[in-house]
Amino acid sequence: MKYTGPDCRQCRREGCKLYLKGARCNSENCSFDRKKSAPGQHGKGRKKQSGYSLQLREKQKAKRIYGLTEKQFLLYYRKATEMKGVTGELMLELLERRLDNVVYRLGLGASRAMSRQIVTHGHITVNGKLVNIPSYLVKKGDIIAVKEAHKESKMFDAAKKDKQLSLKSWLSFDNTTLTGTVVELPTRADIEDIEIKEHLIVELYSK
Ligand code: SF4
Repeated sequence: MKYTGPDCRQCRREGCKLYLKGARCNSENCSFDRKKSAPGQHGKGRKKQSGYSLQLREKQKAKRIYGLTEKQFLLYYRKATEMKGVTGELMLELLERRLDNVVYRLGLGASRAMSRQIVTHGHITVNGKLVNIPSYLVKKGDIIAVKEAHKESKMFDAAKKDKQLSLKSWLSFDNTTLTGTVVELPTRADIEDIEIKEHLIVELYSK
């Protein structure tokens, strides 16, 4: 089941910033920076965690960062096990290729949750065709753009001003046309800001 409580509580639960609230996450109003203990009366002085609970926490963290349900998240693990390579890395690379994540990485949405709404509400095209499925996996060479009729929406004002200093090297973005390109598929090294120990998730699922 998907968690529907306060976003900031999830960061305190996981003991790290999950960047779920857009601009607020990098401001002095970030409640994780202000209050680092886990939520609830037992939050302070957390006990040393067992191997299982460490694995579980890493899985929860990754699931929350990408805003997925358990069932959705498990599908990425299963898909990764069918591919050649390091399963944990492949799983993260697949997650990173989701269209809602790419919209977020291009700076069109302030958070992954907002980017998902941008996709489901029909604002995004891929190679000229409307795609409103957040789980769509982008491919090398895909052109991701804001639908022509929606380019003047205030929703994209920040993306037009943004100098894209934080743009990932596997993407390119033109902020005058609100169009991005998948230059290369992401590798684990490109996702260094996701502080996940993915091998622990693989250990959890392969039990
Ligand atoms: Fe987490 Fe962002 Fe809330 Fe800070 S502002 S606690 S990073 S969701």
